[in-house]
Amino acid sequence: MKYYDIIVVGAGIVGCSSAYFLKEKGLRVLVLDRDGIAKSGGSAAAGAFVSPKIGKGSSLQSLTNEAFEFSKEFYLKNFPEHFKQTGVIRIPKDEDDAKQFFEYEKYDASKREWLREEKLKNLGIKKSKDSFLFDEAGVCDAPEMCEAFLEGIDYVQYEVKSLSYEDEVWNIGGYNASKLILATGYENKFFDMRYMGVKGTWGRRGDYETKLDLVVSIHKKISVSANLEGIIKVGATHEKEVNSCVLCGAEPLKGLFSIASEMVDTSDFKLKKTFSGMRAGSKDYFPLVGSVIDVAEMLEKNPKLLRGAKLTAKPIRMENLYVCNGVGGRGFVFAPFIGKMLADNIVDGKEIDERVNPDRLFLKWCRRSPDLER
Ligand SMILES: Cc1cc2nc3c(=O)[nH]c(=O)nc-3n(C[C@H](O)[C@H](O)[C@H](O)COP(=O)(O)OP(=O)(O)OC[C@H]3O[C@@H](n4cnc5c(N)ncnc54)[C@H](O)[C@@H]3O)c2cc1C
Repeated sequence: MKYYDIIVVGAGIVGCSSAYFLKEKGLRVLVLDRDGIAKSGGSAAAGAFVSPKIGKGSSLQSLTNEAFEFSKEFYLKNFPEHFKQTGVIRIPKDEDDAKQFFEYEKYDASKREWLREEKLKNLGIKKSKDSFLFDEAGVCDAPEMCEAFLEGIDYVQYEVKSLSYEDEVWNIGGYNASKLILATGYENKFFDMRYMGVKGTWGRRGDYETKLDLVVSIHKKISVSANLEGIIKVGATHEKEVNSCVLCGAEPLKGLFSIASEMVDTSDFKLKKTFSGMRAGSKDYFPLVGSVIDVAEMLEKNPKLLRGAKLTAKPIRMENLYVCNGVGGRGFVFAPFIGKMLADNIVDGKEIDERVNPDRLFLKWCRRSPDLER
């Protein structure tokens, strides 16, 4: 039996990029996934746009845009064949949103230009207000990108049902390693990680065969990709907290298709394939990267935390257990950025950026969670 330095559970974009950066640092890595590499979950369904976030300068916007700059450069340098730099146009959703765009302009550091209505029309985009074009943004081939990340890394299709940690060794179905990363998206059956508040949001996508000459990807209420080798991807994630992923046929795509038809000419669109999946968001919408607090032990040793006491000692942690998750609707923007951050932490001892460290959510959860007896 081969012994690994680290096992990553979950072969979505987050697990695959964590594995990639750990392997780059010389670790022996094993990746396990129940369904295959980006075969289910958010990463299989994603339109996989990589574009900046617009807004009024919130800290989530600046973190997202740092991630965008890093990940875009990373994809271009290392996997250009799976990242199509089509540009992405952000179109206001309605009149009010159109007014907001003039505000957003002040806060937006990413390279972008205004596209006026006439130019949008020339690109084949119907009746839209003045919009932003991010020409450095683009779209990933999601499964191909995940597979490319795992080249040279051991991967086994395996559903983790139980795991154990003894004598500083993780054992999962006979696979052994010193460290474990959970990159399981919206699912977590193994440890008490309620403080991170991970929840699923269900989404769907249809891939349509078409001759429409759409050279830029666009996002309004939903995403419509550029025409990539005869296929346009139409997708969105909006439905909160659906308990399990349901595979969808053409019927649930009707709503999306009619919104797409308001954006571009869909008259020759032929549905080729449908996808659905759940994306995982944290309580405060920031990613979750780093080690996991031992909740039971912490509450037993520090019962006053439940009544609002401050933490005076270091948190008690689950030994050699890490999480990489909570990337919401921007998994392909965040994955390389946080995958590198986690590898830098595990291998080089570099501090995790506090904006993504799950510790940030623990005390608030202790004080406020209705799940806890006070
Ligand atoms: C319709 C749709 C459109 C989207 N569009 C975009 C977009 O344009 N741009 C963007 O950046 N993001 C987009 N997203 C979000 C993006 O897909 C997610 O943020 C991202 O895929 C999350 O990746 P992940 O690796 O964290 O999780 P997942 O991709 O869900 O991977 C988790 C993996 O863990 C595995 N797993 C879970 N439990 C176990 C177990 N017990 N044993 C073994 N394996 C297990 C699952 O099989 C799964 O493969 C979209 C999402 C959807 C649904």
